[in-house]
Amino acid sequence: MDRQPSVCLINPWITDFAAYDLWSKPLGLLYINSFLKSTGFRTRVIDCQSYGFGRFPYCFRSLHPPGRGHIRKQKIPKPPILNTYKRDYFLYGIHPKDFEYHLGKMASSFSPDLFLLTSQMTYWYPGIKYTIEFIRNIFPRIPVLIGGLYATLLTSHAQNNFSDCIILPGNFNQEHFRIISQFADSSIPAKVPSNLLDFPYPFHYDYPTLDVLPLLTSLGCPHSCSICASRILNPVFHQKAPGEVVKEIVYYIKNYKIKSFAFYDDALLSNADKHIIPIMEGLLKNRYKNMVFYVPNGLEVANIDASLAKLLYRCGFRELRLSFEGLNTSDIFNKPLNLVSFCKAVGFLIEAGFSPKDLRAYILVGHPLQKIEDILESVYWVHSLGIRIDISHYALVPGTPGFDQYSQYTDIDPAEEPLFHNNTLWNWRLKNPYPWEKAFRKLVNTLNRAYREGEVLDRTSSDIREYWEECINP
Ligand code: SF4
Repeated sequence: MDRQPSVCLINPWITDFAAYDLWSKPLGLLYINSFLKSTGFRTRVIDCQSYGFGRFPYCFRSLHPPGRGHIRKQKIPKPPILNTYKRDYFLYGIHPKDFEYHLGKMASSFSPDLFLLTSQMTYWYPGIKYTIEFIRNIFPRIPVLIGGLYATLLTSHAQNNFSDCIILPGNFNQEHFRIISQFADSSIPAKVPSNLLDFPYPFHYDYPTLDVLPLLTSLGCPHSCSICASRILNPVFHQKAPGEVVKEIVYYIKNYKIKSFAFYDDALLSNADKHIIPIMEGLLKNRYKNMVFYVPNGLEVANIDASLAKLLYRCGFRELRLSFEGLNTSDIFNKPLNLVSFCKAVGFLIEAGFSPKDLRAYILVGHPLQKIEDILESVYWVHSLGIRIDISHYALVPGTPGFDQYSQYTDIDPAEEPLFHNNTLWNWRLKNPYPWEKAFRKLVNTLNRAYREGEVLDRTSSDIREYWEECINP
C-alpha cells in the first residue's frame, strides 16, 4: 500500500494575562482537518487549549459547564517589554507535560510529515513560540506551517519571528494545499472549496470529551465596524443555505449524540427571514428535544422582533449576548445603535420566556474617543433594563481603521509590537491613562451583583453614587 501523507494539526497555547473559554474550538483548523482527511491524508489534532487533551482532565476545570469556563494556567515570565504592567502573565491550556506526552505518543505511532498550526489573537504569538519549542524538542526536523488569524493579519511579523516556519496567510486555499502536499511528498489531487462553508463537516473525534459543538453558518459580516477584522478576513458576507445547516446539525445530533451547539457566526441574525428563522423552523420540524444553542458573539438586536424572540426561546437558545457597545459610540465604531430597538428586543425576549439572567449586553470600553460620562450612562442604562453588563475592553486589530487612528493616543508603537494589541492593556497603553479604571470596575461589579439578586439599583443609591462620582472626579 502507498504511504499515506500525514499531518498533525495543532491549536497552540494562549499566552496572556487572562483567558476564558467561551465554547472555543479552533473551527477553521477542524475544517482543514476534515478536508485533508477527505483527500486521503492521515491527520491528528492536538488542541493545547482544550481540557480534553490533558492527561489529567480534572485540572482543566470548566467552572460553568457546559463547554465554557476558566482555562488551566501556569505562570510564565512576562515578555520584558510589558514589565511595567503589574500583572502576572500565564500560559493557558494543557499542562506542558501533557503536551509532551501527546507528542511523544505520536512519535511512536503516527510520525507526521508536517505540523500545521493555527493562530488566533495577534498578541498570543508567544504561545506559538512555546508550542513550537516543544514540537522541536521531539520532532527537530519536521516542517512547521502556521496559518490562521495572526499569520493573516501580521504576515511579515510572523515571517520575521518564525523564520524557520512557513507562514500561510489568508483563508485555506489551493496554494496552501499545494504547499502542504509538497512537504508531505504527496501528489493526491484535490480541489479546495472556495470557502469553509463548503468544506466537509469538521471532524471532532480527536477530542476525548465534547459537550458543545461549534457551528458556522455564515462567513463575514454585513457591517463594517472600524475596530473589527471581519471584513478583512471575509470581504463578502456569505450565508449557508438553511437546509444545509439543518442537515449538518442533524448529522451532529445523530453521530456525536450531542444536542448543544455554539454558533460562531459574526452576524447570525442577519437576513433572519431567509436564514436563522428557516434553520430554527427546520429543526423544530425534526422534533429534536432539549437542543441548546449558545452564541458567544453579540447578537444584533435590531433583528429581534416578537416572533423571532419566541422562536429562539423555543429552539433552546440560552445566555444571549446582545451587542450594545455604548451610548454615543456610533461614530466611533461606525456601528449604529438604536436604543428603542434595544429596549424592544429585551422586552420581546423576556415576553418569549427568557429570564433576565439569560440576557447580557456587551459594552466596549477603552477606545480613547469614549467619554467616561457616556460609559457610565451606558452601564446604568443596561442595568436599568434588568440585564447583565458585560464589559469588553478594546483590543487593537491591525488593518482596521481604528488601529490606524490609534497611534495619536499612545506613545507605544502597536504596529511594531503585537503584544501591545492586548485588550488587558487598554488603559496602560494610553498616552494619558484614565484614572477611573478601579472605581469603574467596582461600579460594574456592584451593578452586576444587584442584577444577580434580581434588583435594579436606583441611580441615586449610595451603593453606586460613590463609585460614579469617583469615576467623574477621580
Ligand atoms: S464588530 Fe461585529 S457587527 Fe461589527 S463588523 Fe465586526 S462582526 Fe460585524
